[in-house]
Amino acid sequence: MNLAVIGRRRSLYLLLTLVLAGGFLTISLVSYHAARSAIHESIVSNELPLTSDNIYSEIQKDLIRPILISSLMAGDTFVRDWVLRGEGNAAEMQRYLKEIMQRHGAFTSFFVSDRTRNYYHAERVLKQVAEEEPRDRWYFRVREMRDPYEINLDPDLANKDALTIFINYRVFDYDGRFIGATGIGLTADAVQRRIIDYQQRYKRRIHFADAAGRIVLSSRPEIIGKPLAELDGLSTLAQKLVAEREGHYEYRSNGSLIQLNARYIPELKWHLLVEQDEDASLTSIRRSLYLNIAIVMLIAGISIWLTALTIGRYQQRLEEMAVTDKLTGIANRQAFAPLIEQILSELRRNPEPLSVLLIDVDHFKTVNDGFGHQVGDEMLRALSARIAGSLRDSDLIFRWGGEEFLVVLRDCDRHNALRIADKLRESAAEAQLTVRGETLRATISVGAAERENEESIDRLIGRADQALYAAKREGRNCSRLA
Ligand code: GH3
Ligand code: MG
Ligand code: MG
Repeated sequence: MNLAVIGRRRSLYLLLTLVLAGGFLTISLVSYHAARSAIHESIVSNELPLTSDNIYSEIQKDLIRPILISSLMAGDTFVRDWVLRGEGNAAEMQRYLKEIMQRHGAFTSFFVSDRTRNYYHAERVLKQVAEEEPRDRWYFRVREMRDPYEINLDPDLANKDALTIFINYRVFDYDGRFIGATGIGLTADAVQRRIIDYQQRYKRRIHFADAAGRIVLSSRPEIIGKPLAELDGLSTLAQKLVAEREGHYEYRSNGSLIQLNARYIPELKWHLLVEQDEDASLTSIRRSLYLNIAIVMLIAGISIWLTALTIGRYQQRLEEMAVTDKLTGIANRQAFAPLIEQILSELRRNPEPLSVLLIDVDHFKTVNDGFGHQVGDEMLRALSARIAGSLRDSDLIFRWGGEEFLVVLRDCDRHNALRIADKLRESAAEAQLTVRGETLRATISVGAAERENEESIDRLIGRADQALYAAKREGRNCSRLA
């Protein structure tokens, strides 16, 4: 096969690879992108807002009753009368607070008097609130507040500092003068448990941030108390998040794309943030993309391999056809040049005697003339089969012309060549055809020559031809040496 053919074949395979792999890859990538944008769309438009709604309604459900109870406490005539009577018997207030706590299943309940600054709790008078004490700041905030109540998240002093959601209600006397703050506290554990559950079940992170941008509750408890701006990737977004009441945001954290849904909860004055790692949600479709690509490569590889195999077989058949004589099935003259080239180059390395025999069928015209061309063909086939069958495997036979054959004998000097020539003559004489009851035989004449020195092949064959001519002249059906 020459270099141009190899080159053309290479570019065919390359084109095939490009078309197959390119086509399949395009399909895989397009469907991957479609799936990706579907997932993105679903996170942004469905999953995050739904989670946010669920948590919001959960919280509302959890807070409405406590707000109502606190409101009743603030309007209770016992509370107001007891204060106006001078807060004489603390046990009465304690019994009242205990009653509220037990009846409504609150975590804690309290009353702070504005006159005495006493902090009353179900069990005892806890302490006196003081303006300079950071833990008591809430009271002085409530004292100045315009709204009737606030919801505040703080550690509960009376309960080993458990994180507690307090409802702080302002209390007034019958003339509308502020006389203190009352309310109940709920443990934040329930809310905390719920958001951790969301994190575990749906891999969504949930945080609550107060108006100042500080995280008050989170599915990652370790970040509670930190400013939002300190979280990875949120430094620039934090301000915007608390400034806007509602929105959808996107940011990168540790190389992952995070989708964030934020909404303001007016009852709590908190921002509810629900986050989802979009890259993590893409893991499974990315895995199937890689699988697709692997399959694509395998299919492309197998297709190209099969194509190469088919083309290779065709090529081989074409090549065989090009160098095979149709009539006799032996090699034709075309096949001679490359084969003899190969033999000569081998001989340059390992010198050994080389001989050729030129064979011509005797009086072949009379066969054609007497029995027709077809019978002549039959005869040629029979003769070539006989002659080829008598040769060694290392010898080569070619149909050299009409009824002429050339035999190349490797490792064979002139004497052996002449011997083989006679043997071939005897074999040829055995070839017979029966035509119209007549037995037809043919003889051959052989010219033999051994290659001398670095003699050219043309010259060698020329000498064999002269020997053949001599054989013909000397009566035919004989062999002559050049
Ligand atoms: P000689 O060689 O003994 O001198 O006599 P010849 O009759 O064989 O003479 P020559 O070699 O000159 O003639 C060869 C003939 O072989 C001529 C041609 O018609 C015939 N021939 C050549 N090729 C074919 C072939 O493929 N089939 C048939 N049937 N005949 C062929
Ligand atoms: Mg001839
Ligand atoms: Mg002849």
